[in-house]
Amino acid sequence: PYVVTENCIMCKFQDCVEVCPVDCFYEGENMLVIHPDECIDCGVCEPECPIEAIIPDTDPESDKWLELNRDFSEKW
Ligand code: SF4
Repeated sequence: PYVVTENCIMCKFQDCVEVCPVDCFYEGENMLVIHPDECIDCGVCEPECPIEAIIPDTDPESDKWLELNRDFSEKW
């Protein structure tokens, strides 16, 4: 799946949410997150993000954000 990272914190853009074909974005405390089980890896959200906060889970940087994405998307 794709993962939302710290650049998203306090970001007001929602372009990623609008393009996601499976509506797997959720609101965390101060950032958006992607539900890792619902994301179909289509990648269309990545270029929509103006601050490059969305990365694929093949990126080593995603490791520390994956669980946070899961926790927030299941909580709300
Ligand atoms: Fe949604 Fe596709 Fe982005 Fe996954 S990669 S969050 S399915 S737009």
